[in-house]
Amino acid sequence: MNHFQYKNDVLFCEEVPVAEVAAAVGTPFYLYSAATLTRHFQAFDSAFSLPHITCFAVKSCSNIALLNLFGKLGGGADIVSGGELFRALKAGVDPKKIVYSGVGKSEAELRFALQSNILMLNVESHQELETLQEVASSLGVTAPVSFRVNPDVDPKTHAYISTGMAKNKFGIPIQDALNSYVTARQMSNIKIVGVSCHIGSQLTDVSPFVESLQKVKSFVERLRQEGITISYLDLGGGVGIRYSDEEPPLPAAYAAALEREMQGLDCSLVFEPGRVIVGNAGILVTKVLYTKEGGKKFVIVDAGMNDLARPSLYDAYHAIKPVVRTNSEEETVDVVGPICESGDFLCRGRKMPAYTRGDLLAVMSAGAYGFSMSSNYNSRPRVPEVLVDGSNFHIIRKREDYESLIAGELIP
Ligand SMILES: *Cc1c(COP(=O)(O)O)cnc(C)c1O
Repeated sequence: MNHFQYKNDVLFCEEVPVAEVAAAVGTPFYLYSAATLTRHFQAFDSAFSLPHITCFAVKSCSNIALLNLFGKLGGGADIVSGGELFRALKAGVDPKKIVYSGVGKSEAELRFALQSNILMLNVESHQELETLQEVASSLGVTAPVSFRVNPDVDPKTHAYISTGMAKNKFGIPIQDALNSYVTARQMSNIKIVGVSCHIGSQLTDVSPFVESLQKVKSFVERLRQEGITISYLDLGGGVGIRYSDEEPPLPAAYAAALEREMQGLDCSLVFEPGRVIVGNAGILVTKVLYTKEGGKKFVIVDAGMNDLARPSLYDAYHAIKPVVRTNSEEETVDVVGPICESGDFLCRGRKMPAYTRGDLLAVMSAGAYGFSMSSNYNSRPRVPEVLVDGSNFHIIRKREDYESLIAGELIP
């Protein structure tokens, strides 16, 4: 359920007509619904009855207004860089609800995380552990550590977003992880607090989650035999959403399947959901610049792969809907952007109503990995982000201008 619905053929976001926002801020822009964000966060968070923390995956949509909203709802943050830590802190997220994942944390980032007193660092290699020990010792603090284990489970998702198979770069192979814990236990400035895993994104089936939890659970039992107890079990993110006809698990089904496996394991859970919270809570609104016919029919819009990379990067499907519905005939078209790359498309060979110059289109399900993956490629200023709340809307990120494109550049 989301709050982007038609009323008399006019697309609304909550109580605001999408066209009204377009008139105020120009196109393209990202539009989020606060009611949908809240609903999705709460549906996920309240699905669990065991003690847990829902740490929103900042990389999926990083605007501080959203991080602040989730923080107020009791959520934390899953970060993958110093920049994301900076954002989460600026947004007012409780540092004791921040977990730090990622294979390549720099010394400066480790220092920043330790100084910020976050809940835990998910360490992904032996060298990272040694570096963390050194940094913690130089600061005179103890680093709360959880190892990210790689359970070697196939999440059956796109190869670029599968992370928990032996061939992926992430985590420590689960069969080697015991050594890591035994080593870490002897380090003076390391405190073992958890075990983590994250097997991939856009999973539409609970069974890979259950399989990886079973593996992690027997690993935790093995740790206990060694006298190593942990307080947190971090199960990562990855729950999928519906882009077209997928049938991802509902939060309740996901929670029930995991909690069943958790019987007898006396630890708090940590989750790192991104897409499932924000994916269907945001759209990208773009305008038709031109149409033309060559070998096929092209609808050229003002948003490109720099604004929404997913179609070009993963061949991802995004529904595209008219902001105002008419009863024009359908035709089969490619919707393409202005970027000088043939890979710059929002969809190809898709049947949709015939569009003409000036029509507004809504690219649906664009809340996750949309703005946060956008770039300035082709020297295009990044687009604004707008948050609707009931009958009001707020610009939560201004449109960049030409000056912002060259800010920081110098001619020697
Ligand atoms: C990307 C990522 C997430 C979020 O994944 P979603 O599929 O958006 O839920 C969570 N944890 C880690 C470590 C990640 O890299």
